Amino acid sequence: MPPAPSTAVVWFRKDLRVHDLPALHDAAADHDRVIPVFVVDERLTGGRFASGARTRFMLDCLGDLDEALKRRGSGLVVRVGDPVREILALVGEAGARSVYWTSDAAPFARARDRALTEALRSDGVEARPRPGSYCADVSAPRTGSGGSYAVFTPFWRAWEELPRREVHGAPRDLGPLPSKVRKGRLPTLEGLGLRDEVPEPAARAGEPAAREAMHAWLRGPVDDYADRHDDLSGGTSLLSPALRWGCISARELEAKARERGTPGAMAFVRQLAWRDFYAHVLLAHPDNLRQEYQERFRGLRWDDDPELLDAWREGRTGFPVVDAGMRQLARTGWMHNRARMIVGSFLTKDLHLDWRAGEAHFERLLLDAEPSQNNGNWQWIASTGVDPAPYFRRIFNPTLQGQKFDPGGDYVRRWVPELAGVPDDHLHEPWRMSSEEQEAAGCVIGVDYPAPVVDHQHERRAAVERYRAVSGD
Ligand code: FAD
Repeated sequence: MPPAPSTAVVWFRKDLRVHDLPALHDAAADHDRVIPVFVVDERLTGGRFASGARTRFMLDCLGDLDEALKRRGSGLVVRVGDPVREILALVGEAGARSVYWTSDAAPFARARDRALTEALRSDGVEARPRPGSYCADVSAPRTGSGGSYAVFTPFWRAWEELPRREVHGAPRDLGPLPSKVRKGRLPTLEGLGLRDEVPEPAARAGEPAAREAMHAWLRGPVDDYADRHDDLSGGTSLLSPALRWGCISARELEAKARERGTPGAMAFVRQLAWRDFYAHVLLAHPDNLRQEYQERFRGLRWDDDPELLDAWREGRTGFPVVDAGMRQLARTGWMHNRARMIVGSFLTKDLHLDWRAGEAHFERLLLDAEPSQNNGNWQWIASTGVDPAPYFRRIFNPTLQGQKFDPGGDYVRRWVPELAGVPDDHLHEPWRMSSEEQEAAGCVIGVDYPAPVVDHQHERRAAVERYRAVSGD
C-alpha cells in the first residue's frame, strides 16, 4: 500500500494571499497536501473593536482567497468558533502532521497561538509559525544595551541592516481537499450581527485588486512620494488596508520599491519601516494596549464630554481640516496620515479627550485598523508613546496645518461641501469671514457650518498645563 500522503494545515489569519506567503510556500514544499483554513472568531468580529466595514473587507478578501486556492486545486476550509478547538478538530479529521501560520505581534494573537502550540504538541502535531507580516524580523533589532527600540530613527538604522527573507511566488498546486473534510461556508456580515457603515470604501478587497494597486503605485506615483506624501488630497499609496489584511506582502512590496530605487521609492520604504517599528514596540510592550507607554503620563487628566466627542466623530468641530478628515474616515474607512495626526492632536490637545476614545473610533471604521499600528500612532500623537518629542511640540494648529497641506482647498472642499464656496484665503478659518462674506460664500457660520467648538490658542495652553502638571517638567 502506498504511504498516506503527508498533510499540513495552513491557518490563514491576517495574511489573505497566495503570493509570497512563507507559511503556504513551506507547507506546499514539504507536504503532499495542504489544507488551507480560516477560522471566524466571533471574539474578534464581535469584540471591543468590532467593525462592520473591516469585517466586510475581510469576508471579501476571503472570497478571493478561496478562488485563488481553488485555481490551485484546493479551496478555503471555513470554520466558525474558537480557533484552537477548530484547528485541533481539523487536524484530527485530516490526519495532518503539522500546522503552519504567519506570526503576529498582537498580544491576543500571541496568547492564542501559544495555546494552540501547546495543544498541538500534546497531540504530537508540529506547530510551524512562519514570518510573513513584516518586511523584516521585528523581534530582532536590539539596542546597545540589549533592549527594544523606543525611538524610530535608530530602529530604522538597525532595521536597514537586518537580513531579508527571499520573496516567494504563489504555489502552483496544493492538492485536493480530502473528501472527508467538510469545506464549510463563510458567514455573511448580517449573520455575524454586523452592518457595514462605510458607503465608499477607499480600497478594493482581495489579493488580485491589491496586487494591481501595488503594481500601479510602483510603476510611477511612488516616485513623487517624498514630495507629495503630506498632500492631504493625494500622494500616498492607499495600500494600508491591503497590508493590514495581508493581501500583499510587506516584504514583496519593500523589495519591489527598492528595485525601483528612486528617491520617492526609498522614502516609501522608510515609511514601511514605521509599520515594522510599531509591531516591534507592541511585541516588547504588550501593555501599551491598556496604558500609556510613558509612565509619567499615566496620570493625565482627560475630560468626559460626550457632545464634543460626537462633534469630533461626526466632523462637526468647525475646524475644516479636522472635519474633512473625520468625514473622509466615515465615508471611506480610510484617512490620510497627515489628517490622522491633525484629528488625533485635536482630540487629545484641543478637546482634552482620552486618546483611547479616538483609538476605538478608528478601530470601528478604519479598513486598515490593527492594534500595533493604531495604538502606536495614537500614543505617538497623544505624546504618551514611543518616539517621544516634547508634548508642546506635538500640538498641531489645525488652521496652519490646513493652509500648509491643503493650500488649494481640494481636500476640505471634497469632504466638507458646505465650504465649497468659501474663498481660499478663508477656507481654513471660515469663522473669520464677515457676515457679508459668509452670505456671498453661501456659508453662514453657525447655520450652514458650525462655529469652532473651541478656541485653539486657549486649548493649546490648557493642554500644555495638563501635560506639565503630570510630567514634572
Ligand atoms: P503610505 O503613505 O502610502 O505608506 C505606505 C505604508 O507605510 C502604509 O500603508 C503603512 O503600512 C506604512 N505607514 C505609513 N505611515 C505609517 C505610520 N505613521 N505608522 C505605521 N505605518 C505607517 N496605519 C495602519 O496601518 N493602521 C492603523 O490602525 C493606523 N492608525 C493610525 C492612527 C493614527 C492616529 C495615526 C496618526 C496614524 C495611523 N496609521 C495607521 C498610520 C498611517 O496613517 C497609515 O498607515 C497610512 O495613512 C496609510 O495610508 P497609505 O497606505 O496611503 O500610506
